[in-house]
Amino acid sequence: MKVLVTGAAGFIGASLCGRLLARGDEVLGYDNLNDYYDPRLKQARLARLLPQPGFRFALAALEDRDALQRAFAAFAPQRVVNLAAQAGVRYSLENPQAYIDSNIVGFLNVLEACRHAGTEHLVYASSSSVYGANRKLPFAVEDSVDHPVSLYAASKKANELMAHTYSHLFGLPTTGLRFFTVYGPWGRPDMALFLFTRKILAGEPIEVFNHGRHSRDFTYIDDIVEGVIRTLDRVPGPDPAYDPMAPTPASSSAPYRLYNIGNHRRIELLRYIEVIEDCLGRKAERRLLPLQPGDVPDTCADVHALQRDTGYAPATPIEVGVRRFVDWYREFYLSERPVRVAGRCPSAPAFAP
Ligand code: NAD
Repeated sequence: MKVLVTGAAGFIGASLCGRLLARGDEVLGYDNLNDYYDPRLKQARLARLLPQPGFRFALAALEDRDALQRAFAAFAPQRVVNLAAQAGVRYSLENPQAYIDSNIVGFLNVLEACRHAGTEHLVYASSSSVYGANRKLPFAVEDSVDHPVSLYAASKKANELMAHTYSHLFGLPTTGLRFFTVYGPWGRPDMALFLFTRKILAGEPIEVFNHGRHSRDFTYIDDIVEGVIRTLDRVPGPDPAYDPMAPTPASSSAPYRLYNIGNHRRIELLRYIEVIEDCLGRKAERRLLPLQPGDVPDTCADVHALQRDTGYAPATPIEVGVRRFVDWYREFYLSERPVRVAGRCPSAPAFAP
């Protein structure tokens, strides 16, 4: 199968590309390698993909509509996974425009390209943040998501609405996946596990927001990638629950699906810190701080629907996943050997769309 993956140099995207290639798919990775975080990490992820047969790469932004359309025309993907986005809740407080450019304009370009190319299935990243400060746990897909508390969350909810419109108007099969705090090797430097690990090893205090009264549904990267692939393989038809006679339809006839993809259990932040301390063999100095604007206190995913439809079954215990991250971190950042970013690393596009 030919799969176009946007955000291919990102945390989830690079891991997904690796697994698609391993099962024999042809993959076109698409990424602008922006500098939201350490670009060497993105280049190192990419350097592992570039030598693999079946992988090609386009260095371009989603907002560049012509480049995206040329990539679609040249590669003719059957299926598309859109992971490229401006991520991060806190960054959205200071940099709202980036979320409109990448997540709204960029996503519109992806929808348009899929529509015109007759793409069989578009899977795209949404986020647990759409649930806002909802206190009813676990979050069910049917719960209201009308009260986002950050522009990041609003942009992800907008993606779901835009995807529904394209599924309804043009019959484009789309599936949105609401990711819940993904962690693991090659993870993002702006996320808690990475930040805590770096600071604990440097002997610096860690910032613990909401005075530690946070809990998160942490999902291990391999479990997430398995779920994305299972979802990609299952092209949605019209919703079987659609009832045209219902006075207020709860679903639509469009080939549109939306799922939570999490772990179905939440971990207290303070317990998470203990696990990291155990893996590092060091104690953290905690700086307790109030809840940050845009942040939500708790998340927990009801994943029954994804389990029912795809057999998704996350299996990695937090102690195992954190250990693998810490081992990777030590190897990547602390080993004597220099960070490997060699290979055909793209300072220029390896695939000219
Ligand atoms: P990431 O930042 O590591 O990856 C995103 C990639 O997209 C990056 O390599 C970046 O260079 C690229 N990109 C960003 N804007 C782009 C643009 N306009 N054009 C082309 N490329 C662009 O993030 P991730 O953790 O891998 O997340 C992947 C997706 O999942 C994102 O949509 C994110 O919002 C969503 N998500 C992630 C998490 C998580 O816990 N990691 C949770 C919820 C949702």
